[in-house]
Amino acid sequence: MTIVHRRKTVTSLVGNVRVGSEAPIVVQSMTNTDTADVPATVQQCAALARAGSELVRVTVNHEAAAAAVPHIVEQLDKQGVRVPIIGDFHYNGHILLTKYPECARALAKYRINPGNASIGAKGDSHFRTMIEVAVKHNKPVRIGVNWGSLDQALLTKMMDENSLLAEPKDARAVTMEAMVVSALNSAGLAQKYGLRPDQIILSAKVSGVQDLIDVYRSLALRCPYPLHLGLTEAGMGAKGIVASSAAMGVLLQEGIGDTIRVSLTPAPLGDRSEEVRVAQQILQSMGIRSFTPQVTACPGCGRTTSTFFQEMAEQIQSYLREQMPSWKERYSGVEEMKLAVMGCVVNGPGESKHANIGISLPGTFEEPKAPVYVDGRLFTTLKGDRIVAEFIEILEEYVDTHYAARVCAKPDAQKEQLAAQS
Ligand code: SF4
Repeated sequence: MTIVHRRKTVTSLVGNVRVGSEAPIVVQSMTNTDTADVPATVQQCAALARAGSELVRVTVNHEAAAAAVPHIVEQLDKQGVRVPIIGDFHYNGHILLTKYPECARALAKYRINPGNASIGAKGDSHFRTMIEVAVKHNKPVRIGVNWGSLDQALLTKMMDENSLLAEPKDARAVTMEAMVVSALNSAGLAQKYGLRPDQIILSAKVSGVQDLIDVYRSLALRCPYPLHLGLTEAGMGAKGIVASSAAMGVLLQEGIGDTIRVSLTPAPLGDRSEEVRVAQQILQSMGIRSFTPQVTACPGCGRTTSTFFQEMAEQIQSYLREQMPSWKERYSGVEEMKLAVMGCVVNGPGESKHANIGISLPGTFEEPKAPVYVDGRLFTTLKGDRIVAEFIEILEEYVDTHYAARVCAKPDAQKEQLAAQS
């Protein structure tokens, strides 16, 4: 269904998930548990995977975290959760990856931050050590530059060189260029130390929308590697969602981005899986991938008599969320279904006809009846207090008769097949 021409890249394999131009854009997320707390981290990884995260990253920041990683992977495997686990390393990754070889083996990918990988080292020896571990275990690496921890020596050098130019660029332009150069130089070094190009994924995250667009456009033009896209520290709630969507929307439309993460700050005790749903929604809203049936609902206005239609839209959306795990196993293509729940006759019938199934509820002064349209045609008219229940019956019947049953495979084989498709 994609209408976007993806930028051509090499394709990396992260566990059993392909990342790169030919593969679907991969949704990923990161835990916020203490990785050393195995039960809590297993639970959150499983919840993120169930929400649709196709890769999950955990921080590996100290020895207890590195020691916990193999147990986390093993317990997820026992639960049938085969999501690849990525280790996020800063400062001491060279120590942890060499001292804990089981951790190095269990992880599906390492994230290395070139801005802090070799702090305190002579040259790039720590970075080199991590790359050599990746080579030994045949693991891909994300070289993840972040402007909050950009290589200061490189930035200073580039600022100094810039100041000598006849027409120096402004500091922002030099900083953005330093992000790109840091990523490209590190990728070059990684290849020099033995990593294949298809084992390298790059990211260069900033927290400003226009900055992110500039940095990734430049990166996309100058390397063949898959790009991990994300606005760093996007923030909380609507601000984080809107900023991430605006930045990623522009880049994805230009074919830039092979895996995405939405870095939302959850509310205290909030649901970490929200970032997964937002990432999926960005891809689905742009027509790039489908994850779940979509409900078109009007915003309501002075013509709506009550909040009934809003409640109905919410009930239908919740019903779809509950059904999708089992529908996905049973019906092929159901995630592309479109529903409409509309508040009055003005746009109700028209919008409903564009959906697979749509209902147009009565607005102020309209007759108390709700026409239902199926595949663009008036199917029936509902009345009374069972409208939601009857609409759901029509929906179930539609799913059962319009989406081909998936071929039943052995549970493990089926999971692997789904993972490979994703
Ligand atoms: S469809 Fe009707 S109720 Fe909904 S926003 Fe439009 S005019 Fe208002």
